[in-house]
Amino acid sequence: MLTTGPRGTRDILPDSSGYWQYVENMMREVCRNFAYQEIRTPIFEHTELFLRGIGETTDIVEKEMYTFTDRGKRSITLRPENTAAVVRSYLENKLYAGPQPAKLFYIGPMFRYDRPQAGRYRQFHQFGVEAIGAQGPAVDAEVISLAVELLQRLGLTDLNLFVNSVGCPVCRPVYRLKLQEFFRDKLAQLCPDCQSRYERNPMRILDCKNETCTHHAQGAPHMADCLCDECNSHFNGVKELLTAAGISFVINPRLVRGLDYYTKTAFEIQYAPLGAQSAVCGGGRYDGLVAECGGQPTPGIGFAIGIERVLLALEKQELLPPANTAIDVFVAPLGAEIQPVAFQILTAVRQAKLAADMDYNNRSLKAQMKYANKYPAKFVALIGQDELAENKVMLKNMATGSQELVDRADLIQMIIKGMEK
Ligand code: AMP
Repeated sequence: MLTTGPRGTRDILPDSSGYWQYVENMMREVCRNFAYQEIRTPIFEHTELFLRGIGETTDIVEKEMYTFTDRGKRSITLRPENTAAVVRSYLENKLYAGPQPAKLFYIGPMFRYDRPQAGRYRQFHQFGVEAIGAQGPAVDAEVISLAVELLQRLGLTDLNLFVNSVGCPVCRPVYRLKLQEFFRDKLAQLCPDCQSRYERNPMRILDCKNETCTHHAQGAPHMADCLCDECNSHFNGVKELLTAAGISFVINPRLVRGLDYYTKTAFEIQYAPLGAQSAVCGGGRYDGLVAECGGQPTPGIGFAIGIERVLLALEKQELLPPANTAIDVFVAPLGAEIQPVAFQILTAVRQAKLAADMDYNNRSLKAQMKYANKYPAKFVALIGQDELAENKVMLKNMATGSQELVDRADLIQMIIKGMEK
């Protein structure tokens, strides 16, 4: 137990943390280009927020939340996603009083009691954006194009963007009835989950992964055929804007979210080579969510991208940048008594903003050179008894193999000059 982390959690080790930084930097850069600003909300919230904000009939709320009672007897939940928390923060901090839409992004860990497998973890990380306070189709197109731009900038190809409209509380009830009619005589053959969805949330039968349910869902009526005029013209607007921006997409009538506060646009980006966990991004409009959370009716749209899955995709396409552990200088004291001077030199080199390290284990000269090469180090600054006595350092250029005795006072200048060559 003590030497194994909980199931579904992973350590991000030094040999891969650089990949995370690379991807996260790209996310920040794209958000800067699209004028989205970072929001950081707590990792835990009142359970009630997720019951309302995600919906009590969803798998997340029914089966996957990490919920506990704290010492003050409050029910607390580790966030399983971040949209509800961003909406809570928008209301609590009166972001609605600022420029609208509020354009926000977040990067951070989420927690779901899921069945762990490749691409599915119990603690995983999402990058997400939320645009709250704009209702036209242009903001839908913006949010979608941000996700596409990020994945393309990372170099991923073979991406498929699926879009759909899930209607609104005006047109969806008509569709629900049509769906229930369609599934009525197939009900006994559906999986137990879908049997209970039939009454509560029949649209979710369409995205059930069970093979029998998939089979029985063939030929089901499409939401797109039941959209009210407003939803229809919104959907047409989104398609037109995406086309204008040169973003290719496929309409997928089975892309659904069954809850009332999810409205109009729903979208997903898949990277097929990931197999079962091919969804890298999921998002959509939630015009009813802010009111559901206690605010004035306010439209919103957002998405979340799974960072682990993006990294898996980048690894598959060999797009991860080479690790950078290189340093500028390795300070090599030849003898324990030289350590204080070596440490003094190391400190000065670091203050000059060079990347530097030194030997702390009294290694032999040969072992220190080997150690320096592992980083690799561009220069090694050797200090033995002779150098110490003369206030000098033997500076070795590891690329050329040449070395020269330099005054300690000149060392940093010599290194900087050597690096410019
Ligand atoms: P969702 O919040 O369920 O719409 O998920 C959005 C994205 O987060 C998905 O497309 C995945 O890329 C990622 N994701 C969701 N659940 C997990 C999980 N358990 N482990 C890893 N990534 C996940």
